Parts: sequence; structure tokens; C-alpha cells
Amino acid sequence: MNTVHNHFMKRTLHVRKSVPDGVVLCELGRVPLQLYWQKMLLKYVSRISELPSDRLVKKAFNHASSVNTLWWQKLSLWLSQHRFEGVLAEGTFSMVNAEQHLRDKWYHGICQSSATKVSFFMDNMFFDSNVMASYLRDIRPSAPLFSLIKFTLGAHSLRVETDRWLRPKPPREQRVCRHCSMQAVEDEQHFLFDCPFYSIIRGQHFSLIGPNYQQRDIRLFFEQNSHQLGFVAHHIHLCFQARMSDESLLAPHPRL
Ligand SMILES: [Zn+2]
Repeated sequence: MNTVHNHFMKRTLHVRKSVPDGVVLCELGRVPLQLYWQKMLLKYVSRISELPSDRLVKKAFNHASSVNTLWWQKLSLWLSQHRFEGVLAEGTFSMVNAEQHLRDKWYHGICQSSATKVSFFMDNMFFDSNVMASYLRDIRPSAPLFSLIKFTLGAHSLRVETDRWLRPKPPREQRVCRHCSMQAVEDEQHFLFDCPFYSIIRGQHFSLIGPNYQQRDIRLFFEQNSHQLGFVAHHIHLCFQARMSDESLLAPHPRL
């Protein structure tokens, strides 16, 4: 079920399967399906524990606890792992707090991730875990929007990303831009701010893509309202198109 959920979200955003699930969920302001199941479980247990003790279901529940059945063992282990033992004590459990706790724990795990793509996204492109990124709602579905999504989620074709698929995998410093002579790694920073190949497009959009452009800081650059990000999307789309047409004129990649 989770696989189908993740696949659906990636298809909707037009990004490849290799984009980390956590990155897609964060951008859409969603949480993994397990959290919904866990919430339902907590609600169910909470409701039973609050029933009068003469109710049959409460008696069955207490019986399972007293004889320590297998499902009871698994349930109490899970509750103690997440510090939810309070759900079994009448009137002491807050569903709202529990839900927030589950969400925080999942989000904390993503923030602590050592995966390069996840940490780059969290450090540079991500702003709020509780809501869908506003540009996804405000920019109408179009090629520029999907170019922006690809850039944001690391589903682009810059060498810093695509060379990861080569075997043996070249170190980051060898994934050099083939569209200029700077001998710099073709990463998001180089593509957006430095590569002279895009300087004409950059010049054409300079007044539109915002004052943050001069700071040459990716996070600052993406910290703009949806209206401004619409221009950014257009700019990135044109750069991707120029890159693609230049790529077709270049000799094949030496490692491919
Ligand atoms: Zn370059």
C-alpha cells in the first residue's frame, strides 16, 4: 500500500522513482501511510480502555492483557517503544499530542538523514513540514512547474545527480559541467548562479527572478512567494531546455 502511495505521488509530480520518499512527502505536506494506521490503532485502543469495565469488549481486552497473548505483547511493546503506555490509562491520553508525536518522530528521522539528496533538500529547498509547498498549489500545471519540481526534488539531469548512476560511481568532484570551461561540478549552485552557458537566459530574467538572486544562496533564492517562484520556474525550464539542446550537440558522455 505504501509503495502504491509513494508511486502515485511521484507520478503526480513527474519525478523519477529514485527520489527519496521522505522528500516527496515533505514537499506535499503529507506523512507516510503507517502514521495513519498507527493513529487508528491508538484511537481504537484508547476507545476500548475508556469503556465501562462490564462491557464485553473491555473484558476481552483485559483478559488478553492478563494472559499476555501474542498480539497483546506486540501491542504493548509498540506502545512502550513510542511511549504511548498512557493510552491504556483512562482519561490520561491525548490523541492530538500522540498524533503530533508520531509526526515529529517521523520528521526528526528525515532531518537526521545522512543521505546526500535528503539532506540537500532539507537544507536548501524545504520550508514547512505541515503544509504542501505553496508553489504546487499556486502555479498552474505546466512544463515550467514540472521543471521547478524536478530541480527542487533533485530529479533533474545535472551531472551531480545522473553520474551517481554510473558504475563505478565517480566522486562528486569529477562530475564536471560539460557546458562551460569552468571545470566546476555541475550541481544546483553552478547551474543556478555560476555557469556562463546560461548567462543570456539569466540576464533576460534577472529582474523577474527576484532580488535574492544576487545573494547566490539557494535557500534564500527559493524562499520567495509563489508569484515570484512562477518566474523562477520559467527560468529553470528555459535553462533545462538550453542544456538539453546543447547536450545533443556534445560528444557522448565519456562514461556512458
Ligand atoms: Zn557550467
